[in-house]
Amino acid sequence: MTCPFCNIPESDRLLETDLLFGFFDRYPVSPGHFLLVPHRHVATWFDTTHEERAALMGAIDDAVAIITSRTEHRPDGYNVGFNSGEAAGQTVMHFHLHVIPRFHGDIDDPRGGIRGAIPHRRIYEIEDPP
Ligand code: AMP
Ligand code: ZN
Repeated sequence: MTCPFCNIPESDRLLETDLLFGFFDRYPVSPGHFLLVPHRHVATWFDTTHEERAALMGAIDDAVAIITSRTEHRPDGYNVGFNSGEAAGQTVMHFHLHVIPRFHGDIDDPRGGIRGAIPHRRIYEIEDPP
């Protein structure tokens, strides 16, 4: 199967450096959902170089700037992260960092955020509150 990310048209690449590019997710979880991708077709974070990792981390700010300057959306928060491997839910095997805007009230109780990878474990109770 051809890689969808290796075939993102130049016109959709709103951010591009020598190491990475970024574009809006075609099937967004929330308005403004943005993806950051290394040019090299590697599957996971663990296949990326230190230079790519530094560039990807640095580009989170650029992604947020694009979300807030090029759209009408004003996120109240973000979930940022990646799925590494099919067991963790990865569906496109070209590494990508999700920058997912979040909005007050977008779900009933957002506590736990990415802990929702295992839905019934998302919200936890502190055992011995002070
Ligand atoms: P993951 O499940 O972590 O591998 O995420 C893959 C992401 O790629 C999903 O959020 C999809 O909505 C997104 N996606 C899949 N195909 C395309 C495409 N052709 N263009 C842009 N985003 C895509
Ligand atoms: Zn690819």
